[in-house]
Amino acid sequence: MRFASLGSGSRGNALLVEAGKTRLLIDAGFGPREMSRRLERLGLAAEDVDAVLVTHEHSDHVGGVFACARRFGWNVLLTHGTFAASRDDRVDANVTIIDSHESFPVGDIVVQPFPVPHDAREPVQFVLADGARRLGVLTDAGHVTAHMVAMLDACDALVLECNHDARMLAEGKYPQALKRRIGGPWGHLDNAAAATLLSQIGCSGLRHVVAAHLSEENNSPELAQAALSAALGCERDWVGIATQDEGFAWRDL
Ligand SMILES: [Zn+2]
Ligand SMILES: [Zn+2]
Repeated sequence: MRFASLGSGSRGNALLVEAGKTRLLIDAGFGPREMSRRLERLGLAAEDVDAVLVTHEHSDHVGGVFACARRFGWNVLLTHGTFAASRDDRVDANVTIIDSHESFPVGDIVVQPFPVPHDAREPVQFVLADGARRLGVLTDAGHVTAHMVAMLDACDALVLECNHDARMLAEGKYPQALKRRIGGPWGHLDNAAAATLLSQIGCSGLRHVVAAHLSEENNSPELAQAALSAALGCERDWVGIATQDEGFAWRDL
């Protein structure tokens, strides 16, 4: 299995996972032209992707899903709530409704969704497995639940939200209501919460940890790396960063 990011943050998200003959995206927050351009950087054409799993209906995740699905022939897999909140009846896409607690295969990849607390209708995140390795993905969660800890335990790789630094958010220029939303229990994980999650799960098998969905306004890569590396007891540089413009290159699992 290998994985890469096409971009991560409030201006668009897409994570690519490949195992065997199967290529899945988690989210498509870019339109067809931008998606093609970003996939090209990873040596792929948009038609090489089989399906897109959608975490929730916020536009940085679903913005390009239906246009890309129609253009490139992708299957769309999402919860009932996410579909209800994002469906576009003008677009004829091949949609499969998933259960947020039920695992299912897509080609050579087994997908385990799990619900997360976020201000969306039925948001989920995913653990993807190829029979040998498990990749855990978690962004867009306001706080860490016991179920999330159980799901992400003992993964081989993690892509983990480090949205903001609590002090930068508090002292920054966002309006109070937005600060409360981002920092609240249905908003986004800050660096400290992501680090605490790492201390609650089995990390001994981790080969990759990538901090994702960083705010360009209220965080820095250095602060995210410092928080996660302290929790893991590793070098700061070992913790990867998923950037808005570049995402990150292929990582082998
Ligand atoms: Zn988001
Ligand atoms: Zn969101």
